[in-house]
Amino acid sequence: MRGFSDVVLTDSQKILILGGTSEAYELAEKLDGLSLPVITSLAGRTINPRLPKGAYRIGGFGGIAGLVAYLKQEKIGLIIDATHPFANQITSHAIAAATATGIAILRLERPLWQPEKGDNWLEVETLQQAVAAIPSNARVFLAIGRQHLSAFSSRNDASFIARMVDLPDPAPHNFQALDIILGKPDTSISEIDFLSRHNIDIIVCRNSGGPTSYGKILAARKLHLPVIMIGRTTPADVTTVSSITQLLAML
Ligand code: NAP
Repeated sequence: MRGFSDVVLTDSQKILILGGTSEAYELAEKLDGLSLPVITSLAGRTINPRLPKGAYRIGGFGGIAGLVAYLKQEKIGLIIDATHPFANQITSHAIAAATATGIAILRLERPLWQPEKGDNWLEVETLQQAVAAIPSNARVFLAIGRQHLSAFSSRNDASFIARMVDLPDPAPHNFQALDIILGKPDTSISEIDFLSRHNIDIIVCRNSGGPTSYGKILAARKLHLPVIMIGRTTPADVTTVSSITQLLAML
């Protein structure tokens, strides 16, 4: 895999942004504004996704082999992996495909949230540790992706609320008590209302970083609620920048 500094795009080559995050939308807008040939790729997880500026495609590539074929077919000269810090599979596929093709890759990953005065975090490394850390009889707000919900169904001594953009399909089963509320992360004021209204005792979330879902962390601080914070696995072998400004400076 070549480093970012080696990249020279020829006239026919394009930049592929692996997206689905607010940073990826902002980056697509900036690169499109600079008249750079850019395509954003979305996984297609939500029913009505926000569409990025410039060209885009939607749906999985079909594993590493599918991504390699796509990179060649579209004459991609640079991959910018701007996917969510917990979208580990697409990140590892992108690194493998970049290695296989010799195409340069750059990772845009927002910095971690850091605990501040008034925060009561229990930091864990895995989903399983988060499951085990939930106190008995707690009312838990699961602020995690739908694909991770089922890990918590073994805790039938606790009750859960999860908030999703779309209803999960298939619906999670084996839960003794799980309420799914349709909605998105909100401001700290609305999150205080949400946590209070649902009598939440504890939040389980991942250390996503960034402002979009920080409202619940501020709300937890205000309400003195504990948070079980699941840490990230940072990919090795890829040049990583933490802001669009830093990335644009490199371009
Ligand atoms: P993941 O587990 O890392 O990836 C699973 C599979 O989904 C990948 O192997 C790939 O399928 C496909 N995929 C993922 N991102 C893609 C993209 N940008 N373009 C094309 N295919 C993609 O991913 P995930 O955690 O389900 O996240 C899916 C998308 O939602 C990502 O784009 C991510 O940025 C966004 N997102 C995720 C979270 C989160 O909490 N994980 C939060 C906000 C946004 P193939 O193997 O078929 O190529």
